[in-house]
Amino acid sequence: MSLALARKYRPRNFATVAVQNHVANTLKGAIARGRVAHGYLLCGPRGTGKTTLARVLAMALNCERRGDPALAGEPCGQCGSCQKIWSGSASLDVVEIDAASNRGVDDARDLRERAMYAPSGEDRYKVYIVDEAHMLTREAWNALLKVLEEPPPRVVFVFATTEPQKIAQAAAPVLSRLQRFDLKRIGPSEIRERLAAVLSEEEVTFEPEALGMIARAADGGLRDALSLTDQVLSIGASAEVTADRVREALGLVPDEEFLALLDLVADRRAADVFPAVQRLADNGVDFVLVLAGLGDLLRAQLALALGGELPELSERLRAALSERKGRVAGGDLLRMLHALLELEPMYRRSGQPQLLLETLLVRFALMDRTIELEEVLKGFGGGGHDDPPPRRVAHEPRVASAHALPPSPPPAVAAASSAHAIPAPPMPQVAIPQVAIPGTATQQVAEAAAAAQLAPPRAAPAEAPGAPPSVEQVQKRWNRVVEAIQSRGRGMLAQAVQRMQPVSVDGNGVLTVAYEVTDDTFAQAVDGARHDVVQAMQEVLRGVTGLRVQAAGAAASAQGAAGTSARPTKRLTAHDVQKQRTSHLAAKDPLLEAAVQALDLELMD
Ligand SMILES: [Zn+2]
Repeated sequence: MSLALARKYRPRNFATVAVQNHVANTLKGAIARGRVAHGYLLCGPRGTGKTTLARVLAMALNCERRGDPALAGEPCGQCGSCQKIWSGSASLDVVEIDAASNRGVDDARDLRERAMYAPSGEDRYKVYIVDEAHMLTREAWNALLKVLEEPPPRVVFVFATTEPQKIAQAAAPVLSRLQRFDLKRIGPSEIRERLAAVLSEEEVTFEPEALGMIARAADGGLRDALSLTDQVLSIGASAEVTADRVREALGLVPDEEFLALLDLVADRRAADVFPAVQRLADNGVDFVLVLAGLGDLLRAQLALALGGELPELSERLRAALSERKGRVAGGDLLRMLHALLELEPMYRRSGQPQLLLETLLVRFALMDRTIELEEVLKGFGGGGHDDPPPRRVAHEPRVASAHALPPSPPPAVAAASSAHAIPAPPMPQVAIPQVAIPGTATQQVAEAAAAAQLAPPRAAPAEAPGAPPSVEQVQKRWNRVVEAIQSRGRGMLAQAVQRMQPVSVDGNGVLTVAYEVTDDTFAQAVDGARHDVVQAMQEVLRGVTGLRVQAAGAAASAQGAAGTSARPTKRLTAHDVQKQRTSHLAAKDPLLEAAVQALDLELMD
């Protein structure tokens, strides 16, 4: 292969322009019917084939066999004119202008004057291809507008741009005189297909996985993908494209390294982060590529977690990730991806990418996991059920630490092997949006609960059995009720009870407590565990026989009516409960919140 692939496989007709069939067919049809416009605007990201399409259009308009019904608007690709334009050698009739370096009004005037010249021959078209057209000045556009208002015969302008909105701002009247086409981004699978076709044509053997790696590296640019393939082929003695060779040529990190990082995060082996990252550093990897590769892997694992498909994944990697499915919950993968994306801009500029990567991975390894937040909610007990929920004493210590989120210093790295939830240390130098957290455990509550835990249990003064206490007595001893619940290992419930305000006791010993609307979730937790709460209350308050949980407004009226005409407790529907839980979970984690908002996700309960 003496000729570079990108050049050799540059399309010679509309049919071989990758992906942009919708544009190619329209242009071909216009040529076949002799209805070519005077101005076209081709919009699309870099590498999508804008200039290629413009050249093929110029070839088709000037092809010596134009009008041949067999060609149906295509250039023949073989005649002298086609060859000349295709190879980019000087052609009188095709003028390529890079607007990035020809912005001034003088150039525009020159352009206008040149446009006045007729094409070089009777049956030929003059085609101006203006690349990076958004770089043209307003003056240049004004000059062009005059040309387009009275276009000379057989002169065609093709403007190519990655930023059409800038043209809309600078030259709206010109836009209305152009036929606009939006080119599609070329996906990795399309690039892989094209590479496979080219390499088969060249009789070069290849591993499909290798093509996927090249396609990802080319990031939507077909020409780049072909150039990278050239690069890969240039380093080997034999003509073959293997995954190993692609890694070598592009300086990529083997998948196994990324899987190892994912594993130590999943296993919470924070201490192992340092040797693993050092090994990468010793191999001289580019840490920017490592971060990108880690992002690709997390994205792939998330797609699998959500039941999606990623076609550009190699079979080997797909199998490896399927094996790991479920080890890290989808919500946590989202949070990790979010943290990674937040870090990226700073990471690129940083002089210490290794340190930043280590910190990120340690944070991932120590991160609170969604599953444990769900445990927190379970710790509330039931949720709208009348039956007291089973005691989950074993969960409580974990629940308390995960829920209260004390701003403790980062725990020792060795603690990572513990199965307990460890509050994540704040992400260093990464701005995480703070979200107001209404109706969740506040620091105040956490402190109060902690204080309650530390207070030595005191014997309850004996009351005359049977006689209901006054609401004042209840209020005085309310903290002891909270302590009693706490001492039963129900830390979460204790915190919820603490948020309730005792407002009245009726003649049967039924205590009514009120809650603020923002404390709905807590009220519901207390209501669901009424039986347990009453049992605990009886340790410190003789004569209490029952519990009624009401919204603050309702309780006030109940109090006014001496507790006899209390409105029924607000019952929550299953949907309310689900919604509250979701917002409760999300509010605890700004990253998750953002992801929920962005993806309109419903968290799984
Ligand atoms: Zn031709």
